[in-house]
Amino acid sequence: MASTLTDRLSQLVKTMRGQARITESNVQDMLREVRMALLEADVALPVVRDFIARVKDKALGQEVVGSLNPGQVLVSVVHKELAATMGEGVADINLAAQPPAVILMAGLQGAGKTTTTGKLTKHLIEKRKKKVLTVSADVYRPAAIEQLKTVTGQAGGEWFASSPDQKPRDIALAALDYAKRHYFDVLLVDTAGRLAIDEALMAEIRELHATLNPVETLFVVDAMQGQDAINTARAFKEALPLTGVILTKLDGDSRGGAALSVRQVTGAPIKFAGVSEKIDGLEVFDAERHAGRVLGMGDIVALVEEVTKGVDMAAAQKLAEKLKSGDGFDLNDFLAQISQMKKMGGLSSLMDKLPTQIASKAGQGDMDRAERDMRRMEGILNAMSAKERAHPRLLLDDKSKASRKRRIASGAGVQIQDVNRVLNQYDQMQGMMKKMKGGGLFKMMKRMGG
Ligand code: GDP
Repeated sequence: MASTLTDRLSQLVKTMRGQARITESNVQDMLREVRMALLEADVALPVVRDFIARVKDKALGQEVVGSLNPGQVLVSVVHKELAATMGEGVADINLAAQPPAVILMAGLQGAGKTTTTGKLTKHLIEKRKKKVLTVSADVYRPAAIEQLKTVTGQAGGEWFASSPDQKPRDIALAALDYAKRHYFDVLLVDTAGRLAIDEALMAEIRELHATLNPVETLFVVDAMQGQDAINTARAFKEALPLTGVILTKLDGDSRGGAALSVRQVTGAPIKFAGVSEKIDGLEVFDAERHAGRVLGMGDIVALVEEVTKGVDMAAAQKLAEKLKSGDGFDLNDFLAQISQMKKMGGLSSLMDKLPTQIASKAGQGDMDRAERDMRRMEGILNAMSAKERAHPRLLLDDKSKASRKRRIASGAGVQIQDVNRVLNQYDQMQGMMKKMKGGGLFKMMKRMGG
């Protein structure tokens, strides 16, 4: 498990305490770490280059104030720039058109177009109170047409029948006509994808676009696609005037660097994120939060680093013994860390000790959210059996892990993905702990305390 950027930068800046600003000479090494972190998160290389150049521009000459060190200042610049690059406030679906407002869904096969069409239908019905019709122009896969029928039903929308012997353009015109005559507010058009970009596919979707004149042309892209996302995005951008992006499968393991690449290449806002296979697994894309994920700094890791300062030496000694004896850092220890943090007065009281990247964005809303996340983590850890906490492998790679996670999720009243998130965070922490093995713990604590 790669270490977090914050962690790496603090290693680097050990030697530069007391420096008053970010300069050409101290910024190079730090930028190299930032670049590595972005590449590890699967941001495409050309995008990384541009980004680093922008960050360097912004960082040079920045004053290093108070107790901050240059690394923290740089992380803060990087975090802000990432969030700014990926988002621009909330961007809901634009429906400002003569009804029916047409929304065209574009993307590769398997990206999650049909699933997302269902999710959007639900969103538009429940949140925007619209009457929604869906239609599939995928004449190559009858199963895709059926799948759209199913998800539309789940969402409470109406589905317009189409069949493989029709032309996509005829399907579109028939659905549009029906939507007009029956006073639908929105027509969502699902389209055919291919496994890879091909000219026929692009010509077909261009024709659909010309026929329908959609108010939104949404590019659906799989966050797990990683480095390749940039090529897909470029091809769709060249073919269509994209108005928005939906990033799917953010519940997966990827660090989501694709968001940055896709945003940069398409210039279109990332409007939503897919976070599960289910019909309600759609969230408004949160650029701030996503920036933290791309950088690999689960806020909790940075916080725990800070809090470790307050852990009494006896407990630290015990942990060090444990690590040395090879017992490892288990979920009981993780739970203990969180309880320790709570004992210290919760997150709000830690505000002034926080690393810049958190402190700078931590309005009260963020703190509340972080507190809630922490309580939820504690609830999840408490829903595990003592045996599971002592043997995290049971939850990470044992045959029984799926049913265990289901039980824990229902015990804690959360989704499986929340349990997965806690396990990921544990994994990150464990990586950090491993590095401290062999006496390093005290050195590290001394460094953090000094
Ligand atoms: P299409 O070919 O682009 O229409 O893709 P589908 O909608 O059929 O989705 C392909 C697969 O990805 C299906 O198994 C979906 O359940 C899954 N999928 C779509 N969106 C998400 C998501 O946000 N999270 C997860 N975990 N799976 C998703």
